[in-house]
Amino acid sequence: MLLEFRLNAAPKPGKYKRVNPTQRQKGDINAKADVALKQRSMGLCELCGQTWAVQRAHLTGRKHIKHKTTEADLAHVCLECHDWLDKDPRGIQARRLIAIIVNHALLELESERKDT
Ligand SMILES: [Zn+2]
Repeated sequence: MLLEFRLNAAPKPGKYKRVNPTQRQKGDINAKADVALKQRSMGLCELCGQTWAVQRAHLTGRKHIKHKTTEADLAHVCLECHDWLDKDPRGIQARRLIAIIVNHALLELESERKDT
C-alpha cells in the first residue's frame, strides 16, 4: 500500500506575549533615562560633587523596582559613592530615604495631575 504524503500543518500554538515587563526590563536603563540623568548631573557625581560620575546607581534596587526605570530612580555617581550607597549600612539607609522621598514626590505630582 502506498501512503499519500500530505502536509498536515497545524498552526503553531500562539506565542505567549508578555504584557508586563520582566524584572530585568524594569531595571534596565533606557537611553531616554540615561540622557536625562546625565543632563541632571552634568557629569558630576551627584553625591559628593567632587569628581566625575561614572556609574548610574539605582535608588530602588533593580530587583524591587515596580516600574520601568526612569531618571528619578537613579543617581549619577562616582565609584566610591556608588559603593557607599550599595554597601555601607549608612549609605543603604540614605539610598532608601532618597528613594522614599522621590517616590512620594512623584506620587504627589501624579495625584495633582489627576485632580486638574
Ligand atoms: Zn562621589
